[in-house]
Amino acid sequence: MKNTYFTPGPAELYPTFYQHLQTAMDEQIGSISHRSQRFRDIYKFADEQLRTLLSIPATHGIFFTGSASEVWERVLLNCVEHESFHLVNGSFSQKFYDYANALNKHAHIMEKPFGEGFDAAEVEVPAYAELVCLTHNETSSGVQMRPAEIHKLKRRYPKKLFCVDTVSSAPFPDLDYTLIDSAFFSVQKAFGMPAGLGVWIANQTCLAKAERLQKNDTMTIGAHNTLPMLWKHYKTFETPATPNVLYIYILGKIAEDFNRIGIDTIRKQTEEKARMLYKFLDSSSRYEPFVKQERHRSQTVIVASVGSEEQPRSSADVISAAKSANMIVGSGYGKFKESQIRIANFPAVSVEQVGSLIEQLQK
Ligand SMILES: *Cc1c(COP(=O)(O)O)cnc(C)c1O
Repeated sequence: MKNTYFTPGPAELYPTFYQHLQTAMDEQIGSISHRSQRFRDIYKFADEQLRTLLSIPATHGIFFTGSASEVWERVLLNCVEHESFHLVNGSFSQKFYDYANALNKHAHIMEKPFGEGFDAAEVEVPAYAELVCLTHNETSSGVQMRPAEIHKLKRRYPKKLFCVDTVSSAPFPDLDYTLIDSAFFSVQKAFGMPAGLGVWIANQTCLAKAERLQKNDTMTIGAHNTLPMLWKHYKTFETPATPNVLYIYILGKIAEDFNRIGIDTIRKQTEEKARMLYKFLDSSSRYEPFVKQERHRSQTVIVASVGSEEQPRSSADVISAAKSANMIVGSGYGKFKESQIRIANFPAVSVEQVGSLIEQLQK
C-alpha cells in the first residue's frame, strides 16, 4: 500500500503529477533546447498560470532558480546595498538572516521565541533598512504572519522593499502584489512536486535597485542569476542558464489544475482541513497545538506537541504508529524533534485523508 506523506517538504505529490510527467516524457521535454520556441511557450504558459493563480500584476517578473534558498542570496545581493531587516521566529527566517550576514550586509533583526508570531503594530523597521525580509509561514514552528499584517507593515514603510518567503504556503497566502515587491517559493511544498525548482517573483522597483547597485563598482550583485540578467532573458521567456525545463513544464500544468479548481476553493479547502486538525488537537488530551495564539497558527504546517504533562510521550511513537498505517508525519524541528510532530496541510492531501490521519492520531 502507498504511503500518504503529511511531511512539510518534500511532501505528498499532487495527484496529477504522474500524468503530467508521463506527458512530458511522451513529448520528450527532457531533450528540447532551452533556446527553442517550444521552451519559450512552456515558460510563457507557466508564467500565465502562476500570474492568474497568485494575482501577480504586470509590474512583476516571474523567474526560475535552483531552489528557494538560492533566492535568499539573490534578493539580498540584488536589492540590498548596506542594510536589511529580518523578522526571525524559527529556523528558516533565521537562515534568511544568516545569509545576509554571510554576504556582509548589515542585517538588523527582531526576534521572537519559537512558536510565537509577529503583528504589524509591534514592528519598527530601522531607518536605514532597505529590504524588509518576512517569512509568511515559518515551517519549523508552524507560525504564520497573516497577509493583512504584512500589508499593514508595508503601508507604514512604503519606500522600503518588502520580500516575503512563501515557500511552505504558496499558493495559500493572498498577498497583494501592488504592495509586495518580491516573494518566492519552491515546488516541493504546497505545489506537490519533487524538489529541484525555485520560483522568484520580483518587481521593477527591485530591478531598478539591482541595476543601480550593479553600476557601483565597490560592490557586487553576484554573477549567477542576477536580477538584471534574469529580467533580460525573461523578456523573451528564456533563462540565463539551462533551467529545469521538465519542472517548469509540470509546474505550469499543476498551476493550471489549481486554476481550474479555483484559488478561492483551494484556500477554503486549506482552511477547512486546518480547522479539522486544530479542532482535534485542541480537544485531545494527548496533543496540544504548539502555537498558542490562534491568529499566528499556520494553515499549511500544523505543529503539535505530543503527550501531556501527566503522560509524556515521544513523537517517535506517534510517528511510527502512523507509519504502520501508511501515513508519514513529520517530526518536530531541531530541539523539538522528540516532543512535536509537524503535519503538512497542502493541496495534495484531501479532507478525507486528513480525516483518516486524525482517526489514526486518536488511537
Ligand atoms: C523549505 C523552506 C525553505 C528552503 O527551500 P529549499 O527549496 O530547500 O531551498 C525556505 N523557507 C521556508 C519557509 C521553507 O519551508
